[in-house]
Amino acid sequence: AKRAREGVHVYVPDPVTGTAGSDRLRTMEELRTALDGDELRVFLQPQMDLRDGRIVGVEALVRWDHPTRGLLLPGHLLPAAEQAGLLRSLTDRVLELALAAAARWWRDRSVPVSVNLSAGNVTDLDLAGKVAAALHRHGLPPQALTLELVEDTLMGDPERGRTVLADLRRSGVRTSIDDYGTGYSSLAYLRQLPADELKLDRSLTADVDRDPRAAAIVQSTVALAHALGLSVVAEGVETLATSTTLARLGCDVAQGYAIARPMPVDDFLRWLAASDSGLIDEALIPHLTQ
Ligand code: C2E
Ligand code: MG
Ligand code: MG
Ligand code: MG
Repeated sequence: AKRAREGVHVYVPDPVTGTAGSDRLRTMEELRTALDGDELRVFLQPQMDLRDGRIVGVEALVRWDHPTRGLLLPGHLLPAAEQAGLLRSLTDRVLELALAAAARWWRDRSVPVSVNLSAGNVTDLDLAGKVAAALHRHGLPPQALTLELVEDTLMGDPERGRTVLADLRRSGVRTSIDDYGTGYSSLAYLRQLPADELKLDRSLTADVDRDPRAAAIVQSTVALAHALGLSVVAEGVETLATSTTLARLGCDVAQGYAIARPMPVDDFLRWLAASDSGLIDEALIPHLTQ
């Protein structure tokens, strides 16, 4: 159980061995096996409503429980999956794992699970159909799922991407724009995307309590998002000071180490139960401390 902890046994590729090429090949081969077998996991990270401290969402983040190298993070896993042409199969698998997990709490607590999409998914005109079938298999309604995508994901074929997103939303699945504030994050993009939620990247939110300019950018982005009917999730919230400031600036929801680290599914279920019985630090909930 110890090795499943976040940050333990993280594989760091060695850039000087000169074996990067064959390492990569081996990783890709092993990934194929992992996808067929039972080595992929999702870790779950809760999202907290900044007004009342309720848990209103949870993001599923892929992990590879490698038989010899320990727990591999997406930064290593995703490039290998992309090169091996396995990104779509990986998402399919993550979606299955995330929905299987959500089915364990949905009856008690209607908290939706968020899954990250990659470019290959968003050009799949049948995505909404596949997602509906997966939800059905797990006995979940469409509101149980939020799909996140980053701006780059749509670059290849924006037109088709918008069609796929619109189909998803019509089916009742929520859509979310991830990592907003990195890359170009143009306003035109916000205007055109059929989305329900905007996630502000950590690079935008980290300094809000110390830097008035960062605060001004967050405040106006929140106002813009709200005017467009999007709810706002702040990502990478690591401190109470940040959480309090983000609440004051109008952010709706916070996600980050200050609330909880991503954790294995069983740990999350225990954490959720503990948060119900008031065991979560109330100091994190700004309105209770002010
Ligand atoms: P993301 O979707 O923006 O996910 C948030 C990332 O920030 C996660 O990294 C999470 O562990 C990390 N994080 C959460 N709270 C904090 C905090 O307070 N401080 C800091 N510094 N970091 C925090 P992770 O799990 O390594 O994932 C990295 C990225 O990999 C994700 O960014 C997402 O773009 C991608 N990813 C993860 N799982 C999947 C997946 O199943 N499919 C696809 N296509 N991409 C995935
Ligand atoms: Mg995400
Ligand atoms: Mg993000
Ligand atoms: Mg990110």
